[in-house]
Amino acid sequence: MSDFQQIKVLVPRSICNVSENIDLFVNDDGLTPLAITWERGVVINIEALDINELDEVKGILFPRFVEAHAHFDKSFSWNNFPNLRSDYENALSVNLEEHITRTPKKVIKRAKKSLDYAINNGYRAIRTHIDTYLSQDDQIWNEIFNLRKEYTDLLELQFVALAPLEFWGTLNGEILAKKLTKNNGLLGGVLVPPFDKKSINSSLSNLLELAMRFNLGIDLHVDESSIQPGRGINLLLKTIDKLNCQIPITCSHSSSILLLKNKEIYKIGERIAEKNIKVIALPLTNFWLLNRDQHHNSLQRPVAPIKQLQKLFVDVSIGSDNVQDPWYPFGNFDPFYLMSHAMPMLQINPWDRLSLSAILNAPSRLLNLNWDGVISLGCPADFVVVEGNNWGDVFSNNLKRKVFIKGNWYQK
Ligand SMILES: [Zn+2]
Repeated sequence: MSDFQQIKVLVPRSICNVSENIDLFVNDDGLTPLAITWERGVVINIEALDINELDEVKGILFPRFVEAHAHFDKSFSWNNFPNLRSDYENALSVNLEEHITRTPKKVIKRAKKSLDYAINNGYRAIRTHIDTYLSQDDQIWNEIFNLRKEYTDLLELQFVALAPLEFWGTLNGEILAKKLTKNNGLLGGVLVPPFDKKSINSSLSNLLELAMRFNLGIDLHVDESSIQPGRGINLLLKTIDKLNCQIPITCSHSSSILLLKNKEIYKIGERIAEKNIKVIALPLTNFWLLNRDQHHNSLQRPVAPIKQLQKLFVDVSIGSDNVQDPWYPFGNFDPFYLMSHAMPMLQINPWDRLSLSAILNAPSRLLNLNWDGVISLGCPADFVVVEGNNWGDVFSNNLKRKVFIKGNWYQK
């Protein structure tokens, strides 16, 4: 039996690396028809189809997706821990109630449910935060680390230990950091108002020093707020300067920056670019939780200023954040759910290169994966093919998809 497989599909032109000599037809939606051939899970040929062959095209092809920011330790906990006020403060207090009842078994069950959805829906890698307390339950982390091995053929996992900042100055913090180095982990925390400047400065220094010592990346929830715009990122930038810190840093959310004047956004953006800090915009939770008023609608929707940051060459990813937990009651680890909500919210066009890059390529770079999601010779045949021939079909309700993992149609 031949191992060759070929598929004739439309592919967003901006995520294809095909020979400049090929004359490509590109439709108004920025999609180009290609015949893609693979053998033993690797793409060995890409041919341009011409306009007369469009009838043979079966669907639109995407690289399998990468989730830049998830919380699979609490996903699907909404039923037991609903946040009916739908604001940030109440999400936090319901989250703390959930912590009291947390066991390794419950966490692993939620994580596995999340992973099954994610794989079926078309993800190939996920960076997820895991709530971590001052006195840490080792058992949860050991089982979380085992999941990485268990799912390694289907999906890559990266963990951020989301702890109170002061945790990273304790012995337990150091012990966990050491374990994270062996398990593709990162150090995490929350940097949002109210700020106690003195204690935050010392905690931030401890965190950065620990990360430098173990050569670990950092991913912080920064400025997820509608007050004190940009205060968190400014404190972080000062500490980075003070310690001359060179480790990779991700700022998740960075929402309140948007409330600054455009001139100030660019000033902070320039410093973010200069430090090579990566940003993750999380429009779903930001639009749901922040600046909420039970009686009035407001146009103020703090979310990372993607367009300004991209203009300054900051690598911005768009992520989903929470799924059916006190922070966000909807979603099911579906990249098309994310795209179809995030694009209208952020006014970014699916036919523009930078919009797709934030969803398809930037997250791969963020997780430092082997493949950046660009369709090219030698790339893995890790695809999601959806029925349809324009973006309207992709963002409709009845999406039919096929997921290919290492060249094989994944059917569960
Ligand atoms: Zn988050």
